[in-house]
Amino acid sequence: MRGNCLCGSVAFEVAGELPKLYQCHCSLCRKQSGTTSNCSLLVQCENFRWLDGESNITSYVKDSGFRSDFCARCGSPVPNPLRDTTYVWVPSGLLDGKVSLEVGAHLCVGSKASWDTNIIDGTQFEDLPNLETLIECLKRR
Ligand SMILES: [Zn+2]
Ligand SMILES: [Zn+2]
Repeated sequence: MRGNCLCGSVAFEVAGELPKLYQCHCSLCRKQSGTTSNCSLLVQCENFRWLDGESNITSYVKDSGFRSDFCARCGSPVPNPLRDTTYVWVPSGLLDGKVSLEVGAHLCVGSKASWDTNIIDGTQFEDLPNLETLIECLKRR
């Protein structure tokens, strides 16, 4: 499955069966996404491949280590490696085509915005679960 940014200059491909999506409602992800939460998936590094436009990616890293990569031309958030893990964080809105995906988890619902009132599907976590718990929760069954 392929994905790309708003202007199309950054393009990538993910292989294999895609896991469920998750949304993080924390204050950082709200600013990064500009809305209630981000909506993303975690794919194994070996299932991820850049196709084009890597040189157009700009990286912003907060002192805390929170990182946001985006297309320098159009501002779309783009995939980035998940810190020191073997996973790549992929914003789900960049994926093209029709694939049936579902949201498996909502993170940081304990600090969501007051106007964020429409969480219906998936497991809810008050804070950030550890990575193993999250990965397990996002497996398709
Ligand atoms: Zn772009
Ligand atoms: Zn977050």
